[in-house]
Amino acid sequence: MVVDTGGVITVSKSKNEVMEELAITTTIGMEGIPLASREAAVARMPSMIERQATAAVEESSAIIFLVDGQMDKLMLLDIRFFADQPSFSPLPISALSGTGTGELLDLVCSGVSEDLHEEQDEDYVPAISIVGRPNVGKSSILNALVGEDRTIVSPISGTTRDAIDTEFTGPDGQKFRLIDTAGIRKRAAVASSGSTTEALSVNRAFRAIRRSDVVALVIEAMACITEQDFKIAERIEKEGKGCLIVVNKWDTIPNKNQQSAVYYEQDVREKLRILQWAPIVYATAISGHSVDRVIVAASEVEKERSRRLSTATLNQVVQEALAFKSPPRTRGGKRGRIYYCTQAAIRPPTFVFFVNDANLFPETYRRYMEKQLRKDAGFPGTPIRLLWRNRR
Ligand code: GDP
Repeated sequence: MVVDTGGVITVSKSKNEVMEELAITTTIGMEGIPLASREAAVARMPSMIERQATAAVEESSAIIFLVDGQMDKLMLLDIRFFADQPSFSPLPISALSGTGTGELLDLVCSGVSEDLHEEQDEDYVPAISIVGRPNVGKSSILNALVGEDRTIVSPISGTTRDAIDTEFTGPDGQKFRLIDTAGIRKRAAVASSGSTTEALSVNRAFRAIRRSDVVALVIEAMACITEQDFKIAERIEKEGKGCLIVVNKWDTIPNKNQQSAVYYEQDVREKLRILQWAPIVYATAISGHSVDRVIVAASEVEKERSRRLSTATLNQVVQEALAFKSPPRTRGGKRGRIYYCTQAAIRPPTFVFFVNDANLFPETYRRYMEKQLRKDAGFPGTPIRLLWRNRR
């Protein structure tokens, strides 16, 4: 395949990158080879390129077999030959105008999705970070989690200078890599207040979020939710990270009764609407009480973030949602149609809707679909992504 055509781009099966940037690992350009005479071109091709190409193909989950649309008929014959192969999908694109590149991404993702599933390798250890404003109790939680009596496996040097990661095992056996941002532990003793500290702590939180799979966002039971909390929440959602909200210092709420948590939850949900899918854990870090629940919740979040729905279940959910409410008709009488839906990635779960025209699905309808997906298929604790792609 490589030898006969103008070039090959292989796509590695590295999980999230596939969705986001197509993770193109190897591009072997053969621009200099005269296309009119393929045999001559093949003969001249350096064997190194061939070897490299073969290796690239072997390592790949999907191969983009790229030909020049303006090329001679021989190439079209090739395409026809490959089009008979079950896993081959021809697709016209224009890299210059961007036409068809979305579809290309979808195709690649649907091709590698099974591999992604298998990629839930044994040595994958999710990273968790504990973030929040100063004094909410982050270091207290962290100490309760990985205190000396806990099973600390090993300290690992973080990739950034200011972080030291610690591996630990939760009560349910789930291993985590705990991201300790710049001296959360040390800082406990230092008085921290004022806007500079707040701003610093947000930046630190942003850095920790980036490196995390699951984020425990700690807020203080008696304090209000602030702009800082909101910024952190927004960032977690934007980066597609799992999240649980830890309401710490639960002991400071006077006259608690069974309704307290309900009222509190309403308030948190209202103010942190962007994280409405995140579970809430009430904790009292200083007593060590309920900190285990934080970690159990974190491993549930992690599982949801790595969960894959079968295409059959997914399409059943989508069909039911469609039957209940169809996309709105435009003034011109046009209506969106969903051909099918597939889960293209995990961490976070990402669903691609193949439709007649993505423009016929307004934001309200997209949100409706997301709501239905969550209602029927769950995914608590993780953002989910819905991508809408034209397919003719
Ligand atoms: P950090 O700045 O977020 O790391 O917060 P710390 O863990 O240093 O806690 C700040 C203060 O809150 C300390 O004086 C802690 O003893 C106190 N604190 C932490 N957790 C709790 C809790 O669950 N209940 C109460 N009453 N105080 C707590």
